[in-house]
Amino acid sequence: MSFIRQHLASGRSAREVLASHLNQIDALNPQIHAFISVEGRDAARAVASAEANPKGKLAGVPIAIKDNLCVTGWETTCGSRILKGFFSPYNATVINRLLAEGAVLTGRVNMDEFAFGSSCETSCYGPTRNPWDTERVPGGSSGGSAAAVAAGLVPVALGSDTGGSVRQPASFCGVVGLKPTYGRVSRYGLVAFASSLDQIGPITATVEDSARILEVIAGHDSMDSTSSRVPVEPYSKPLGETIKGLRVGLPKEFLSFPLPPDVQAAFDRSIKILTDAGAEIVPVSLPHTEHAVSVYYIVGPCEASSNLARFDGVRYGDRDLGAKSLADLYLRTRQQGLGAEAKRRIILGTFALSSGYYDAYYLKAMKVRRKMIDDYERAFQQADVLICPTAPSGAFKIGEKTSDPMSMYLSDIYTLSANLVGVPAISVPCGYTAQGLPVGLQFMSKPFAETTLLKAAYAFEQKSGAADRRPKIYAS
Ligand code: GLN
Repeated sequence: MSFIRQHLASGRSAREVLASHLNQIDALNPQIHAFISVEGRDAARAVASAEANPKGKLAGVPIAIKDNLCVTGWETTCGSRILKGFFSPYNATVINRLLAEGAVLTGRVNMDEFAFGSSCETSCYGPTRNPWDTERVPGGSSGGSAAAVAAGLVPVALGSDTGGSVRQPASFCGVVGLKPTYGRVSRYGLVAFASSLDQIGPITATVEDSARILEVIAGHDSMDSTSSRVPVEPYSKPLGETIKGLRVGLPKEFLSFPLPPDVQAAFDRSIKILTDAGAEIVPVSLPHTEHAVSVYYIVGPCEASSNLARFDGVRYGDRDLGAKSLADLYLRTRQQGLGAEAKRRIILGTFALSSGYYDAYYLKAMKVRRKMIDDYERAFQQADVLICPTAPSGAFKIGEKTSDPMSMYLSDIYTLSANLVGVPAISVPCGYTAQGLPVGLQFMSKPFAETTLLKAAYAFEQKSGAADRRPKIYAS
């Protein structure tokens, strides 16, 4: 059931709703560490303005914000020591849009440093824990956002997704994560990781809430030249329409990756649910899928190394005060302020962009990326949506993959492609592993076909019932 719709119909005051969520944060955050700061004073101010304007589409809805989205006056650190002490002088466009509809921003949620990661373990604040099993990771990089929604600390959180960072944690935490089409949502005020891949997306408990948030945050913005002028649709309206005859594509290359039996069973059951709802299953092929991880780990780090060059101790955040020269200031600030994974990405990207290697790595990766876009265009002539698992497993244990970056990178094997080709994608709970951990199903659609994407995801959610379970911690 949509929290937003229920909330607006209930007549509960924004004050009461905020108080009950702050209580939940007090009770559970010490165990899961999703919030890194609660902004009570700003939230109270937003409650007052929501009460003055009760007609807002999100009047009184508490929302948590990932630590890489600028909010005026809030410290914005991207989970990194290097940005300690940087307070945003302006709001990201998505923040202005949420506030204009009466949303109540409650605070910052944790993330992997600069959004590099799939487990929320690289944050300078320490790891967030999965509400389903606090010995496990919530996924990443928007792990704080997903854990906060899964534990009922907030009904909605914003995350960012460059290679799966909204969808993979949503899958690990049993909630819904949407990455819109590249350009659907303005990136103004999002600290850039890889500018050609980044998108902001909502994490919610239900598909309807996801659609309602997208209606508010989507649309052209003169502050982001890559934001699209394609008209925003009323995404929540057609939810509930039949999906009879919807062509659901099964990409054979995705299906050839080995899956643990419980994840495979949840996926097979999902196909049956969609067939029973009248969808038509069609086999499709995305021949360049095998290169997705390699292409992503060239393009992503190249863009990141360039974007992160601005963090040198001069303009933003923390600086080393013992430096003896300007070069020494850069060196010491970056040496001390950045974590191991951030350094790995910067070194990888700088190497791949350097003279003599550019053609062999970056240019070649971009050529393969073009071929992947062609693959998807062809597949979407045969199918309206594509499906695959969101992640190859349920949530793994804290510490399990920290010493093996390659195995960490492979947890995004199903999600990276949507960013490389720019299509929208959503993860919806579809079942549970043998240990009772959530498993997600990913839907993808053509660029700007979010209406079809959400309609399919909604129909699936209603029939599957997988989203009805809550972690035990929720009720305690
Ligand atoms: N896990 C992927 C990475 O580490 C994706 C991160 C993201 O989407 N921000 O790059």
